Parts: sequence; C-alpha cells; structure tokens
Amino acid sequence: MRPSDVDTSQRPFVCIWEVTQACELACEHCRADAQPARHPDELTTTEGKALLDDARAFGDGQLVVLSGGDPLARDDTVDLVEYGVENGLQMTMTPSGTGSLTRERIDDLADAGLRRMALSLDGASAATHDAFRGEAGSFDSTVDAARAARDAGLPLQINTTVCAQTIGDLPAIRDLVADLDAVLWSVFFLVPVGRGRVLDPIDPERAEGVMEWLVEVADDAPFGVKTTEAPHYRRVALQQKRAEGGIASPARDGIGRRTGVTAGDGFAFVSHVGDVYPSGFLPESAGNVREESLVDVYRDSDLFESLRDPDALTGKCGACEFRHVCGGSRSRAYATAGDPLASDPLCAYEPEGYDGPMPDQSPAEVEL
Ligand code: SF4
Repeated sequence: MRPSDVDTSQRPFVCIWEVTQACELACEHCRADAQPARHPDELTTTEGKALLDDARAFGDGQLVVLSGGDPLARDDTVDLVEYGVENGLQMTMTPSGTGSLTRERIDDLADAGLRRMALSLDGASAATHDAFRGEAGSFDSTVDAARAARDAGLPLQINTTVCAQTIGDLPAIRDLVADLDAVLWSVFFLVPVGRGRVLDPIDPERAEGVMEWLVEVADDAPFGVKTTEAPHYRRVALQQKRAEGGIASPARDGIGRRTGVTAGDGFAFVSHVGDVYPSGFLPESAGNVREESLVDVYRDSDLFESLRDPDALTGKCGACEFRHVCGGSRSRAYATAGDPLASDPLCAYEPEGYDGPMPDQSPAEVEL
C-alpha cells in the first residue's frame, strides 16, 4: 500500500512517543520544557513495549519516532528500538545533540535497526547555533553526531526552527544540510508553546517568503524538504506550480511519507506519561495509553475526529478554498486562540470573499 493510500482516519503516518522529558540541555525554546531528571511517572519499559504493540496494530510498517527530552536519557532506548523493529515498525529517533550521543551509541542504534536519526540545527555555525541553544559545544556535538550517523549508514534528518532569531541563517543551514548528506530537512515554524513562547515568531509575510524559497530549495536540493506546523507550504507550492502551468502533486519526504501531515490527521503524539495529543505542540489530551488503546483514541476520540474534518474549521481557515489541502496549523490555532479549530495566524493568504477578522499571533492565555 502506498502512503498516499493510507486512510488517515484509521492510522497515522507517524506516531511520536516522547519517551522522557529528561535532557542534559535546557534550551530556552524547548517544547517539552525539558528537565534534568526523568519523571517518576514516565512510561516504563513494559508499558512502552505495550505502546509499540499498539502502534503495530495500526498496520505494517507504522512509523514511530522516539522523541524527548533526550530519548538517550533512558537506558532502554536501544532495547525499545530493537523491539519495535522486530515487531514490524519503522523506528526513528530525535536525540539531543550532546556529547552523550557518541559514535558507539549511534552504531548501537544503527545495529538495532533504527531507520533514521533526526538532529536539530538552528544555526549554521557554532556562534549562531550555540547562542540559540544556550549551550556552548552543542553545534560541534551535533555535527560530529551527524557525521557518525553517515558513517554508520544511518539516514539523517535535520530539524530547524524558523523564528526571528534563526531566519537569517536559513540559506547557510540549507548548505550544511547538503554537506552532511542528510536525506530530509524538516523546517519547523515556531508555535508558541512550552518555552517556545520566549522566542519571536516571524510575521505571516516573512513566513510566506520562506515557504516560497523552500519550494525552490526542494526543487534543487539533494535532500527532501518538509515543513512542520506550516501546512500552508502545500498551498504555496500548489499556487506556484499552478502559476507555472505545471502539475502539482504533494511532495514526499524521502521515506515515502506524505508531507504536510497535521495534528490528529496522520499524526499522533504520546507524552512521557502516556497522554495522547494530536501533536506535541497541541497539548490537549484525548486519552491516556495506560487506560485505553492508542488506536482507539486516534480513531474515535472527538478531538481527533474534529481535527480530521476541514469543514469543522472556523474563521479564515474555515472560509478558505485550500482548507482540504492545507487546513492551517491546528497547534498554532490552539496556542494563539485557545481553540484548535480556529484560524492559523501565520498564514498570509486571504480567501476570496472573506471579510471576517484576521487572527492574532499572540499566545492565548490557556493552560498548557
Ligand atoms: S487560510 Fe488557513 S486553510 Fe487557507 S491557506 Fe491559510 S492556513 Fe491554509
């Protein structure tokens, strides 16, 4: 079955499991609000394996991302990767770029069958990346780990946050992604949740410019490009292809996953204590895997079902003719309006005939 044939009302393209919030780093913008120590109530190894069994029940080859915090802050991570691989899952991981990500650990993960490792680069030099991360040496550790992954034959993904502090470095980061032989560049447009609220988002016009540039990068680069929390990249790509008279087809990300997966629609996130969210940036729980199956929560909870219905959207996104191919970031709508079905304020597009209010980018006063 090709990924484009996957019915996202029945299974996600990707399940992310935040195995721990523990991390040596304490980045100012951390979504997870990472902590130095592991939480006493995080899912145990046995509970984690049961969760992987659940993920397997979605179907063959289900993609699972072990995330954090730093997943390597747990001592069972290689065991979890092995277990997932043995049970037919595609296991990937997003370790933190610290000195603990040694060549030996990377070799162990590759031997366990890890399909991809994702590392964050938010600057193209030690000066810019380390300033953003607030940790001297982080850039060098990350680049060393990227090279070790390449040497181990482990496909590499680079994640980059787009905000006012990083936007000037994007062209140089693109070049570095190519130099590191990464297979995918995942460009995350800031959502003001967790410690991300301390960063400055870019305005919709600059975001539009970045997305237009990313479409050009994707045409030429030796790696795939995808956006995170910016599904209007699909709208921008469609508009550009139409303007050129070409045939627009959804881009792919190098492992066959459809790009533009959105919260609750092709995407599920399980927190360190088992809460199921539509995304790591939309911290509204639809259930807990200690009490019910991930499959049931994904398929049948009211929250997930509503997020898969573009006609349930309100405001500018609800009035937009692109809502079925884009739909806006539900996480950003939640973070700024307190309502996951409201408009995404990062989008510059004004639907024809729409005369309602334009959404505001300021964070909402919601319990997160
Ligand atoms: S208005 Fe909403 S649905 Fe339309 S392109 Fe913008 S973000 Fe997407």
